[in-house]
Amino acid sequence: RRIGYAIVGLGHLSLEELLPALNNCKKSKLAALVSASPDKMKKVAQQYGISPENCYDYKNYDRLKDNKDVDVIYIVLPNGLHKEFVIRGAKAGKHILCEKPMANTADECRDMIAACNKAGVKLMIAYRIHYQPHNRKLREILTAKEFGLVKYVEASNSQSTANVDHWRHKKALAGGGALPDIGLYCLNTTRFILDAEPEEVFAYSYSTPGNPLFAEVEEMVSWQMRFANGIYASCTTHYDVHESRHYRVNCQKGWLHLDKAYAYKGQKLKTARADGMLERQEDLGIAEIDQFGAEMDHFSDCILKNKKPFTPGEEGLQDHILMEAIYQSAKEGKPIKIKGLGSKNTWR
Ligand code: NAD
Repeated sequence: RRIGYAIVGLGHLSLEELLPALNNCKKSKLAALVSASPDKMKKVAQQYGISPENCYDYKNYDRLKDNKDVDVIYIVLPNGLHKEFVIRGAKAGKHILCEKPMANTADECRDMIAACNKAGVKLMIAYRIHYQPHNRKLREILTAKEFGLVKYVEASNSQSTANVDHWRHKKALAGGGALPDIGLYCLNTTRFILDAEPEEVFAYSYSTPGNPLFAEVEEMVSWQMRFANGIYASCTTHYDVHESRHYRVNCQKGWLHLDKAYAYKGQKLKTARADGMLERQEDLGIAEIDQFGAEMDHFSDCILKNKKPFTPGEEGLQDHILMEAIYQSAKEGKPIKIKGLGSKNTWR
């Protein structure tokens, strides 16, 4: 059986990536749409063969409770709306897949996790990188210590955002600027590939004075994370530079470099290792897959087999705790110790 998804919010990500991906999924299928724009929804419903009874708006959204075609509600709204729609969806008795960042604050994440637990439904955060083959391969290589011990990571995720009227520049809807939107990938992917939690963070943040784009949210954040055994990560995210999405893991006997690391496609994994007095470089040609389809099929599999997803709500909460520490460090100009996360993710 293919698990039925209701997609909430018909914006860029839903239209360009999620709906086409669902068409090609093995374990997941589109079952319903939720949108405040009737004209857009009608067009999309016709395109994807969704009947008018399976189209909802934000007011009658709670009626999904009675729709047997829908197993999962996938929240693809601005970040500041995630909490409300996750909690209402859980109350409707549906499993929840929620886009990243999970919410605006760690406290909101705690409420969302509690609501899903209370309703007895699964909650997964859409961290597609965890289901992307190049990033997974790199993590496997690190786990096998093929390049010796990891010593430090350099990560960067930056792009140009230019529309001042967009919700991404409004604090209430976005929660923050470059950090929760794209810097989150450096944070979350570094934790994923190292399979470890930072013990301390130290950050610097900047917004160009007078630029209306950054009146409410930050333009850039650069931060360092210190893990156990002196492993160190240096990350930068920026909202006003040409697209740049990569990271490099520096190990004792070589390095691994992933270009387009956080992009939807185009990943290139390159390695270099000491070979006597020389250096041997290699391009690991790994086949690309649809990351969004893989992520949804993972959640569907968890539902079919009653398993906990690999990126549950706790994963989103962890990132929000860390992002709050990063902002605090930038504000106070000093390192912040992270308490209570442990050296490993407790749910794995
Ligand atoms: P978008 O602006 O293209 O779409 C947002 C949708 O929400 C629109 O359909 C809009 O009509 C609707 N909406 C409802 N209430 C709104 C309000 N008050 N203000 C503005 N829009 C409102 O955004 P998007 O790029 O599709 O992002 C949606 C979510 O997906 C965000 O949480 C974002 O972080 C996440 N996202 C994730 C990825 C990924 O790779 N996983 C990529 C892009 C976006």
